Amino acid sequence: MQSFICQPLPMRVRFEAGAIARVGEELQALGLRRAIVLCTPDQSALADRVVTLLGPRAAGVYAQAQQHVPLETARQAQTLAKTLGADCAVAVGGGSTIGLGKAIALDSGLPVVAIPTTYAGSEMTSIYGITESGLKKTGRDARVLPRSVLYDPDLTQSLPVELSVTSGINAIAHAAEGLYASDGNPIIRLMAQEGIAALGRALPSIHRAPQDRQARHDALYGAWLCGAVLGNVSMALHHKLCHTLGGSFNLPHAQTHTVVLPHALAYNEAAAPEAMRGIAAALRGERAPAAIFDLARDNGAPVSLRALGLREEDLDRACDLALSNQYPNPRSLEREGLRNLLQNAFEGRRPV
Ligand code: NAD
Repeated sequence: MQSFICQPLPMRVRFEAGAIARVGEELQALGLRRAIVLCTPDQSALADRVVTLLGPRAAGVYAQAQQHVPLETARQAQTLAKTLGADCAVAVGGGSTIGLGKAIALDSGLPVVAIPTTYAGSEMTSIYGITESGLKKTGRDARVLPRSVLYDPDLTQSLPVELSVTSGINAIAHAAEGLYASDGNPIIRLMAQEGIAALGRALPSIHRAPQDRQARHDALYGAWLCGAVLGNVSMALHHKLCHTLGGSFNLPHAQTHTVVLPHALAYNEAAAPEAMRGIAAALRGERAPAAIFDLARDNGAPVSLRALGLREEDLDRACDLALSNQYPNPRSLEREGLRNLLQNAFEGRRPV
């Protein structure tokens, strides 16, 4: 029997096809009047749609969100929010855009309303990250947790298939590590199990038919649950490795999670048998590491760090960086095992 503490983060979620149309209603319910709307350059048409829906509640748009929230971008957005007299930020997009909303909240305490369009899960967490001179600093702060989240599966129809699959596996990674988290609890494990199963069903359907609305619904539902796991318990080896690889070698976020997850699970497999049984059962596979690998490979996602542009000569430094911090993980961090993990991920070997 395991003892535990369970204190879920507060969340207000509206999950509905077409939920974006409710954004004005949502601001009204929260007593908010002037929103700065945030997006990436690619998604400015979507931000314009939000502005139209908000009418007089829209104060202006900042359309320069970028991956990993560069400090200069954060400062520009923070300044614009003040100049516009905004009393909240509406972040419409993936983890990069929601991360920018969090940077504004961290600076000024403005509440964030998030409208996620990927499966990354940032909207469910109080984790922020800001990158200065190539170094990403992360932390937790209750102010950055979005006040409300509008999940609209229709907005994910345009997410390219490869990014849908890798972003979905990024979400699964949160749940997988939640199942063996040192501070886990039974509610979080239920959410993790359900989230993995929903994404495990949905991603192959999206790969076959990207406009399948039921699959898009199921994937976003799974992503919500997996994001909530990330927000509530501590992550371990897999997330730390991806953070190192993404930050130090500038690898793409969702794809890196996709490549590393099977190998991080293989590393932890013997030390976390119950979690592995849960992951395998949710994916209807025999062994968790191979089931994740197959989910990626069979649905067109990259499976090797080489394919993401990492150089083999960088593996030793990646290993040193991964060992430079100790943190709770089911299996202790050992150089030889970690170096093998990285080599296997580099080569894209199927874990056996
Ligand atoms: P992203 O937000 O960088 O988006 C990737 C690309 O996809 C962008 O060009 C974006 O414009 C485009 N895009 C997004 N949704 C789309 C859609 N529906 N249709 C078409 N194009 C779309 O990618 P991401 O993986 O969601 O987020 C990655 C970032 O989020 C990383 O910086 C990561 O560290 C951060 N993150 C933070 C947390 C947290 O809790 N703080 C959690 C997960 C991820």
